[in-house]
Amino acid sequence: RLQTPFTNAPFTDFSKEENKHAQEEAIAQVRSELGQTYPLIIGGKKITGEKTFASVNPSQPNQVIGHFTSATVEQANEAVKVAAETFENWKHVPAEERASYLFAAADLMRQRRFYFNAWMIFEVGKSWVEADGDTAEAIDFLEYYAREMLRLAGDQPVTPLPGEENKLVYIPLGVGAVIPPWNFPNAIMVGMTSASFVAGNTVVLKPASTSPAIAYQFMRLLEEVGLPAGVVNFLTGSGSVVGDTLVDNPRVRYISFTGSRDVGLRIYERASKTPKGQRWLKRTILEMGGKDGIVVDETADLDAAATAIVASAFGFQGQKCSAGSRAIVVEQVYDKVLEKVVEKTKTLTMGDVTQPTTYMGPVVDENAMKKILEYIELGKQEGRLVTGGKHQGPGYFIEPTIFADVAPEARISLEEIFGPVLAFIKAKDFDDALDIANNTEYGLTGSLFSNDEQRLERAGEEFHVGNLYFNRKCTGAMVGGHPFGGFNMSGTDSKAGGPDYLLLFTQAKSISKKK
Ligand code: NAD
Repeated sequence: RLQTPFTNAPFTDFSKEENKHAQEEAIAQVRSELGQTYPLIIGGKKITGEKTFASVNPSQPNQVIGHFTSATVEQANEAVKVAAETFENWKHVPAEERASYLFAAADLMRQRRFYFNAWMIFEVGKSWVEADGDTAEAIDFLEYYAREMLRLAGDQPVTPLPGEENKLVYIPLGVGAVIPPWNFPNAIMVGMTSASFVAGNTVVLKPASTSPAIAYQFMRLLEEVGLPAGVVNFLTGSGSVVGDTLVDNPRVRYISFTGSRDVGLRIYERASKTPKGQRWLKRTILEMGGKDGIVVDETADLDAAATAIVASAFGFQGQKCSAGSRAIVVEQVYDKVLEKVVEKTKTLTMGDVTQPTTYMGPVVDENAMKKILEYIELGKQEGRLVTGGKHQGPGYFIEPTIFADVAPEARISLEEIFGPVLAFIKAKDFDDALDIANNTEYGLTGSLFSNDEQRLERAGEEFHVGNLYFNRKCTGAMVGGHPFGGFNMSGTDSKAGGPDYLLLFTQAKSISKKK
């Protein structure tokens, strides 16, 4: 396997009849599996609790995707205990063997690609293309982290010293609480979990409550590739109940979290406590929100910029941390760009995501819908509504919405809405645009459309985001090519899918022997 370098899994071409057919069959398959009840998995044991919650289809909220167990505080602590016991064996398993589980899981996910896509179409309302990109990224993470672990397990460069034999080895940390979001319910969940255990840690995986079914499918897959029981434990339940319990547990060695700023900050604070008996400083790997901007200057290809703005703002209903929710356009070309963007937005299709050509589905749940509609009301005061703005039921559908002439300091310019709402902001010139781009507390992604090389170079230095793109959209980071993570309140800049990521899940030990 290592003879071939890492390459990204290609996206599926759904214009090919065989692929379209395979996806339709998988949708029918998953439809026939909806509504089952799922257990917790602790140490390989399947435990169904008394209290359950339902994950529902946001396109059709009366359709239950599955019933999941609401874990209790005791079960959360039990999962940590089992993970801690399992760690004592797992930490001795050689890196090659640990990596082999990831390679096998990648192979099996390739075989089940359409099936995983279908779960996301139902559970979180992804379009075919968005779901397929998500599964492709999950496969990439498995392939990439397996290779990265083998690299880290090899000889590391140390300066030779006379009379000594020196080496540096990367050892695991211990039990990780892995807490992913629902918006990349396959990719991010798989990436955070597999990075954890390939590095030799054991895991309590607490999936987001709106996307537990996809995580359960991954657990099934891990069981099938023979991953020993207890290495990854599956714990569903309320984020505030079991989330806090996991974060506070003194046997947890690190927390790998991706989600909102507020929950990230809560974890950061709680994890800093060192209760009696806890023998370490908990490590936190926190990837949080964004308020990402696309800057367009007067030298740019305006058509390309408009296409990228639409894709970045409305792909997966704007529910990406990388979503381009601010278009910052210089005065000279502002009206033209706005007109093009509005025109393109009006052609987007919204509706039934089980159909291949639908571009936009619903937002994830009722809470998200309410919050986004509140921001839309606010937007009517802070800007000029130029298209969209309405809810379309019975599912949680919200039209792609654009507000023009929004001030840089308006709330809809600064706060993460996490929905299909785009603010157009007018800048005096390029310098002003760059200032506006940098004026939020976040710093995740950003794009600049310009044909001026000097400006691109300046933006390279001054546009303060973890993932900066020139003349392309600000979503769609590729594993390996665009290591992903943001600055400031966007989190700890972990650079998922990059060569630094696994270091966060290990500690380095220097061993020196006198000759
Ligand atoms: P969220 O913060 O609501 O939830 C994330 C996870 O935290 C879920 O599993 C949730 O159950 C859990 N949780 C909730 N309360 C908790 C607590 N008190 N203790 C521990 N865990 C708790 O976020 P979300 O709605 O699932 O995801 C959307 C957010 O994620 C957006 O802000 C988005 O920008 C961000 N995001 C960031 C990245 C990135 O790489 N930076 C990637 C994807 C999403």
